[in-house]
Amino acid sequence: MSEGVPFARVALVGLGLIGSSIARAARAAYPGIALAGFDLDADVRARAAALGIVDALPADIGDAMAGADLVILCVPVGAMAAAAAAIAPHLAAGAIVSDVGSAKAPVAEALRAALPGVTLVPAHPIAGTENSGPEAGFATLFRGRWCILTPAADAPGEATARVAAFWSGIGAKVEVMDAARHDLVLAATSHLPHLIAFTMVGTASHLEAVTEGEVIKYSAGGFRDFTRLAASDPTMWRDVFLANREGVLEVLDRFLGDLAGLERAIRAGDGEALFDWFSRTRAIRRAIVYEGQDTAAPDFGRAPAA
Ligand code: NAP
Repeated sequence: MSEGVPFARVALVGLGLIGSSIARAARAAYPGIALAGFDLDADVRARAAALGIVDALPADIGDAMAGADLVILCVPVGAMAAAAAAIAPHLAAGAIVSDVGSAKAPVAEALRAALPGVTLVPAHPIAGTENSGPEAGFATLFRGRWCILTPAADAPGEATARVAAFWSGIGAKVEVMDAARHDLVLAATSHLPHLIAFTMVGTASHLEAVTEGEVIKYSAGGFRDFTRLAASDPTMWRDVFLANREGVLEVLDRFLGDLAGLERAIRAGDGEALFDWFSRTRAIRRAIVYEGQDTAAPDFGRAPAA
């Protein structure tokens, strides 16, 4: 392993948006690294091969594992257990196994059951788009974004440090967190917003008094910003809600209480309550921009139509 390169050979299982982005980012950051890939879907393998994003793309998962000192599972959360079981017999001695699943505690349990004795340093890059597949990936996806590591209790500090170095090298800011805490925080910042978007877009399209044509034509009134989230991958999000059931239900309970409070304020004509609430949410948006998590460009930086 050359200096500054935390791993010599990385194997990526699942070559969709996240797996293919890691491949592209690692290739750019670590020119000498050996990258192997595997995807259960032969069509995805063929497309990833055509894109040339990894050095080796064998049809046999065991061949992809050969000599890998880091294996990252980039499959939907519901497929993590199967993927971990598939790599188990083929792991090189001392290999570190990680994943990028959007829910951490249930995935950690599945990985531990399938991979006893293996060093586990799970991760969740807080970066993505609503698109899927190897063509959707890009090398700068993780630049300036947080990547949360949730190492197993028995993972040596040195292993966590190497995985942290890998993510820093491809541009991410790294934080270490307990898996259960991650699931509660992400329920609030990612999972609930997606659930609301899925609901909103479904509701607007089912309104009988408003036509679908009107919904699409006047979407810039707010609806359009929900549609980006609501276009996210159905498999991924089904799995996230099934896996992070506890975290999502806890935050959803709070949300429904707050929504009922706003409903009461509207019914009662309580403008002061509405104004106070909206002032606090505006301050949160400004803090996000201040922290560099988004730009202040109007309309989320979308270019106006020519
Ligand atoms: P994706 O684009 O759909 O890619 C997943 C790939 O894994 C697909 O090609 C899929 O094939 C393949 N696959 C499924 N089961 C497999 C298995 N057992 N072995 C090998 N390959 C398998 O999904 P993604 O957006 O990259 O998401 C991957 C992971 O990243 C998920 O756990 C998700 O929670 C997490 N994540 C996603 C985002 C995001 O914004 N998308 C952000 C952060 C983290 P098929 O399509 O044929 O099933």
